[in-house]
Amino acid sequence: MELLTIGAFARASRLSAKALRLYDELGLLVPARVDPVSGYRLYDPAQLPRARLVAWLRRLGMPLARIRSVCGLDAAGAAAEVRAYWAEVEAATAERRDLAAFLVSHLSHEEAPVSAPSITSPYAIRYAALSDAGRVRESNQDTAYAGSRLLAVADGFGPSGGPASAAAVQALRRLESGDGLPAGGLLDALHDAVEEAGRAVRDATGGDTGAGTTLTAMLLDGSRLALVHIGDSRAYLLRDGGLFRVTTDHTLVQSLLDEGRLTEEEAASHPQASLLLRALYGGGDPTPQLRLHDALPGDRYLLCSDGLSRVVASREIERVLRACDEPRQAVLDLVAAANRAGGPDNVSCVVADVVEA
Ligand code: MG
Repeated sequence: MELLTIGAFARASRLSAKALRLYDELGLLVPARVDPVSGYRLYDPAQLPRARLVAWLRRLGMPLARIRSVCGLDAAGAAAEVRAYWAEVEAATAERRDLAAFLVSHLSHEEAPVSAPSITSPYAIRYAALSDAGRVRESNQDTAYAGSRLLAVADGFGPSGGPASAAAVQALRRLESGDGLPAGGLLDALHDAVEEAGRAVRDATGGDTGAGTTLTAMLLDGSRLALVHIGDSRAYLLRDGGLFRVTTDHTLVQSLLDEGRLTEEEAASHPQASLLLRALYGGGDPTPQLRLHDALPGDRYLLCSDGLSRVVASREIERVLRACDEPRQAVLDLVAAANRAGGPDNVSCVVADVVEA
């Protein structure tokens, strides 16, 4: 078979000669032969399928190092890798979409006074919080809190997990008094509060990276509810008769599910089911998910730790949330359901109804 010059190979593969030289240097696409005298690169036509695959993966935006590993796989393995890569891109885009929606909503309400939101709010929340050690654990490392503007659930882990979850929630509570909000607005206030919570957790754990906490919280601000979320506690919304999950679990298993590397059944019994990819300290990535919801009268929110969501099916959670008029009864029934299912973990629930002020 006659070898192709770099120019001919570039035309056939739709890659530039400059790109081919780069891919050679990176070991991604090495010429079949390099002329020892002229230094010219020569390519085998049999290398064209690989070169075209590289070109398509570049159009997808895949980083070169990852392309190299895809090119080393058989077709089925390469397909799985491309699927996984795209799932990551979509997850990152979804998070940016949430942030963009947050900013749009925030900027659209910019004229509303930030300094006294509790006075301007047309809505109030009726709320209840309950945290229980469950039936297996000796201590309760969860913290649940509900007030007239702030709802929060934190699930501590590690030797000082209890103080960690308490410190995170305590740090957020300064958001409750409107005068604590800096002029920069709600988004900055939440960001600052999460950073402060992170510092409080670090102090509470004595810098032990094996300890930390999840944090899922909502703040009523005017006619909106702002959500901050990090870890695998969850927020749900019961609206128009349907239950919607508002948060994404920051767990290894959720990312494997997103990437199509695990089925729902495999995920349920995965040995690292509770491994967190994000947390407030404890070694994880501390970037929180931020969302802004328009509060609507009749909405019911549930915040819970994984001690509920791991053992009580979402259909049963929805049934309890519909059946109970009062938030107090709902949290009692939800915690009871987790304990009936064995209560293997600490369980925390916050239920809040949006009502006309
Ligand atoms: Mg837990």
